[in-house]
Amino acid sequence: MSSTLIVNGRVIDPASARDERADVAIAAGVVAAIGHDLPRSPADRVIDAHGCLVCPGLIDPHVHLREPGREEAETIASGTQAAVSGGFTTVVCMPNTTPAIDDDAMVEFIFKQADLGGRCRVFPVGAVSKGRQGEELAEIGLMARAGAVGFSDDGDCVASAALMQRALNYIRPTGRALMQHCQEVTLTRGASMHAGEVATKLGLIGWPRVAEEVVIERDIRLNRSIGCPYHIQHMSSGGSVDIVRRARREGQPVTGEVAPHHLLLTHDLIERGPGEGVESDERGAEGGPAYWTAAKMNPPLRERADIEALLTGVADGTITVLGTDHAPHTAEAKSLEFEQAPFGIIGLETALGLYAKALIDPGVIDWPRLIELMTIEPARLCGLEARGLGRLKLGGPADVTVIDPDLTWTIGPADIVGKSRNTPFLGWEVKGRAIATIVSGVVRLERRESAASGRRT
Ligand SMILES: [Zn+2]
Repeated sequence: MSSTLIVNGRVIDPASARDERADVAIAAGVVAAIGHDLPRSPADRVIDAHGCLVCPGLIDPHVHLREPGREEAETIASGTQAAVSGGFTTVVCMPNTTPAIDDDAMVEFIFKQADLGGRCRVFPVGAVSKGRQGEELAEIGLMARAGAVGFSDDGDCVASAALMQRALNYIRPTGRALMQHCQEVTLTRGASMHAGEVATKLGLIGWPRVAEEVVIERDIRLNRSIGCPYHIQHMSSGGSVDIVRRARREGQPVTGEVAPHHLLLTHDLIERGPGEGVESDERGAEGGPAYWTAAKMNPPLRERADIEALLTGVADGTITVLGTDHAPHTAEAKSLEFEQAPFGIIGLETALGLYAKALIDPGVIDWPRLIELMTIEPARLCGLEARGLGRLKLGGPADVTVIDPDLTWTIGPADIVGKSRNTPFLGWEVKGRAIATIVSGVVRLERRESAASGRRT
């Protein structure tokens, strides 16, 4: 097995509070040494990380890999290729496949497919209910034993309070989290975008913030006497941040997650459509509203005040997990009429630069904290800390991401390496990109055309 030496970088490992200039030696798939002026001689490969951050491999706790069932949109192989391109060494995939991941055999199928064609580590989340139908509890214990790292009916909310209570009771002994897609269905029937003046103008049924907030309130109340780790996926409403902040202050085992698009985009994008200069046939006819399906997500894009509240939540430690909600859809599916088109956008290739734009550029948090939110925090959420993931530890798995924080790049079609290209971020200029992604000691990505490479010579 090959050995790699990463030299001259700023090594940041939030889990051990390490932040120093150092070299990292990798051999036989593990971190062999971290230190100053390590000898280059035994290494097969040297990566010069001058001007770059060397951190634990990034972990995305919320992706949709579409396999099995919708392989035309994404597969485990293509989705993990996108992950590696974005600097991720581990992805956690949601169970809304066809069939759903709702028993131990399906959990094992995901691990097997990841072994065969995956470019990074893949861990499945199991469904809460059989077939994600929201009626009968799925095989929680069997799935946990098979290696499921959490439980969710994502794509749908666990709507029944009785089922939620049972699920919390059954999941608690596994030590994993119940990850909830918070959407009160009777408040969102027929809705395709945020309830606000844009929806009114476009004649679309609005999706109110309270549809998210009431589920969070209910679940926290149900969980009060149970104490199961409870995780709120893709928070979109500013009001949700207040609820989570209060619960965490009371000591409730509640965590919150936010995705890049909810920190950067607002509902008016649906009306405006893609910016000038972006190659697209999705612009509104003769200056009319675009009804841009690339801006259609679940939960929907909201307003500036929500972004401000979410940013405050990240800054004050209310929101501790970042996830992309990578949701690939074919161009055909996204070209349907707005109300018929599926929800969701891809996120793996672009997340790091977008998080830097949302959180680092305006000074909400710094790089060590951003890395913490993308490594050890999701590792804790999914029980991956015990496997040595999310940190840089001597003898631990050599999952390492090298980030050039000063590399400015424009997101273009060629940067999207997964099967689907449904993103509203084409044409955006961002700063910060993974220039190397190392999974279990194997260099899966190395970008040589980085800004730092100019400085290195
Ligand atoms: Zn969801």
